[in-house]
Amino acid sequence: MPIIRFEEADTANLTAVGEGITRPARAAGRLRTGTPVGKYAVYHGDGCAVCQTEISAGDSFYIDSETGDLLCEAHGRQRRSD
Ligand SMILES: [Zn+2]
Repeated sequence: MPIIRFEEADTANLTAVGEGITRPARAAGRLRTGTPVGKYAVYHGDGCAVCQTEISAGDSFYIDSETGDLLCEAHGRQRRSD
Protein backbone atom coordinates (compact mmCIF):
# COMPACT_ATOMS: atom_id res chain seq x y z
CA MET A 1 0.00 0.00 0.00
CA PRO A 2 2.15 2.84 -1.24
CA ILE A 3 -0.32 5.60 -0.34
CA ILE A 4 -1.84 5.24 3.10
CA ARG A 5 -4.93 7.08 4.25
CA PHE A 6 -5.38 8.17 7.84
CA GLU A 7 -8.92 8.91 8.97
CA GLU A 8 -8.28 11.47 11.68
CA ALA A 9 -5.16 13.29 12.82
CA ASP A 10 -4.70 13.12 16.60
CA THR A 11 -2.86 16.44 16.82
CA ALA A 12 -1.46 18.95 14.32
CA ASN A 13 1.84 17.05 14.23
CA LEU A 14 1.32 13.43 15.23
CA THR A 15 -1.16 10.61 14.79
CA ALA A 16 -0.95 7.29 16.59
CA VAL A 17 -0.72 4.21 14.36
CA GLY A 18 -0.90 0.47 14.89
CA GLU A 19 2.06 -1.86 14.48
CA GLY A 20 0.89 -2.85 11.00
CA ILE A 21 1.63 0.66 9.78
CA THR A 22 5.09 0.97 11.29
CA ARG A 23 6.89 -0.54 8.31
CA PRO A 24 5.52 1.80 5.62
CA ALA A 25 5.71 4.71 8.07
CA ARG A 26 9.39 3.98 8.69
CA ALA A 27 9.99 3.60 4.94
CA ALA A 28 8.49 7.06 4.49
CA GLY A 29 10.76 8.49 7.19
CA ARG A 30 7.69 9.44 9.22
CA LEU A 31 7.64 6.95 12.06
CA ARG A 32 8.04 8.34 15.56
CA THR A 33 8.13 6.16 18.67
CA GLY A 34 7.27 6.80 22.31
CA THR A 35 5.25 9.90 21.46
CA PRO A 36 2.63 11.66 23.61
CA VAL A 37 -0.13 10.24 21.36
CA GLY A 38 1.04 6.65 21.43
CA LYS A 39 3.84 4.12 21.23
CA TYR A 40 3.97 4.49 17.46
CA ALA A 41 2.94 7.56 15.52
CA VAL A 42 3.42 9.21 12.15
CA TYR A 43 4.73 12.75 11.90
CA HIS A 44 2.76 15.14 9.68
CA GLY A 45 3.68 18.59 10.94
CA ASP A 46 5.16 19.79 7.65
CA GLY A 47 1.98 20.24 5.61
CA CYS A 48 0.84 18.85 2.26
CA ALA A 49 3.70 18.33 -0.22
CA VAL A 50 1.59 19.82 -3.03
CA CYS A 51 -0.36 22.74 -1.52
CA GLN A 52 1.37 23.18 1.88
CA THR A 53 -1.96 22.91 3.70
CA GLU A 54 -1.31 22.06 7.33
CA ILE A 55 -3.07 19.12 8.88
CA SER A 56 -5.15 19.89 11.96
CA ALA A 57 -6.43 17.53 14.62
CA GLY A 58 -9.41 15.65 13.19
CA ASP A 59 -8.38 16.05 9.53
CA SER A 60 -7.90 13.08 7.29
CA PHE A 61 -4.62 12.90 5.38
CA TYR A 62 -2.42 10.61 3.33
CA ILE A 63 1.21 9.52 3.37
CA ASP A 64 2.98 8.31 0.24
CA SER A 65 5.28 5.62 1.62
CA GLU A 66 7.47 5.61 -1.51
CA THR A 67 8.31 9.30 -1.55
CA GLY A 68 7.62 10.18 2.11
CA ASP A 69 5.26 12.92 0.98
CA LEU A 70 2.49 14.07 3.24
CA LEU A 71 -0.70 14.83 1.33
CA CYS A 72 -3.94 16.55 2.28
CA GLU A 73 -7.29 14.87 1.65
CA ALA A 74 -7.68 16.30 -1.86
CA HIS A 75 -4.13 15.68 -3.08
CA GLY A 76 -3.89 12.24 -1.49
CA ARG A 77 -7.03 11.15 -3.25
CA GLN A 78 -5.72 12.63 -6.50
CA ARG A 79 -2.36 10.86 -6.26
CA ARG A 80 -4.03 7.56 -5.47
CA SER A 81 -6.10 7.77 -8.64
CA ASP A 82 -3.14 8.76 -10.87
ZN1 LIG B 1 -2.75 19.40 -0.71
